[in-house]
Amino acid sequence: MTTPELGLPMAVPAEGLPARVRIHEVGARDGLQNEKTAVPTQVKAEFIRRLAAAGLTTLEATSFVHPEWVPQLADAEQLFPLVRDLTGPAGEALHLPVLVPNERGLDRALTLGATRIAVFASATESFAKANLNRTVDEALSMFEPVVARGRAEGAHVRGYLSMCFGDPWEGPVPIPQVVRVCRALLDMGCDELSLGDTIGVATPGHVDRLLDALVEAGVPTASLGVHFHDTYGQALANTLAALRHGVTTVDASAGGLGGCPYAKSATGNLATEDLVWMLTGLGIDTGVDLGLLTATSGWMAGQLGRPSPSRTVRALSHKE
Ligand code: MG
Repeated sequence: MTTPELGLPMAVPAEGLPARVRIHEVGARDGLQNEKTAVPTQVKAEFIRRLAAAGLTTLEATSFVHPEWVPQLADAEQLFPLVRDLTGPAGEALHLPVLVPNERGLDRALTLGATRIAVFASATESFAKANLNRTVDEALSMFEPVVARGRAEGAHVRGYLSMCFGDPWEGPVPIPQVVRVCRALLDMGCDELSLGDTIGVATPGHVDRLLDALVEAGVPTASLGVHFHDTYGQALANTLAALRHGVTTVDASAGGLGGCPYAKSATGNLATEDLVWMLTGLGIDTGVDLGLLTATSGWMAGQLGRPSPSRTVRALSHKE
């Protein structure tokens, strides 16, 4: 047990947890993509710069989808060059993954020097249809050449998988269905998977079951990341369950920005500050300066004109 600094929890390590967690920060992409009002490109660049200064080293920057699909991210060509050469507080290189849905998106990303790309599949037919206007297998076929070429060009490839726990149209999602798509993404060459609880309905026992089934299917835990939504307040409990399984990559969004347009409640992504608070309390290293991160989310909330939904941002903002 160590004495807490002001604005940090006591560090009390628990058994069976990793020493370090890599946070995959999705605020600039997943967080902003559903914002109705266009956020200026310079503000997005400043957001990413500040997040990097706070110690986040994997910062999902934007999405090279068709501009009409996600108007908020239509400035990918302008934004990416502004952040491409950023470094961390100690001059370390950053990872700046970008989403690419197809070969055209891949071309745009590679031309600008992206070295980390992500494709986004669905575990359910309903969401594949709603999000990509394809069946699950048609979407996988669309990604196959993207993944192959991305890897041939030396890019690291992440495969997002949406609706791993529940689906707003289909209800609970059978675990074998999720395992099948995970296997397909890995078999086509994805380096990493992100298991998405897109509508936030997972609970820790369900996380245990899915991770057990993935291990049984030969999916290496080191290739797994988790992407929980806090719709029902379960994101941290689910994260802890995943950490106990050896998962060390956790997606989060600064200030809790963003959510899923298909979930009725507005609460969405796990807030990075809430995650850092818990991990710090567990004595797990993240490399993140919580004070700088909270200040960044406070600044971004000002830009968006509404307070952050993160409990930790709110608690720390009212401290003094
Ligand atoms: Mg999300």
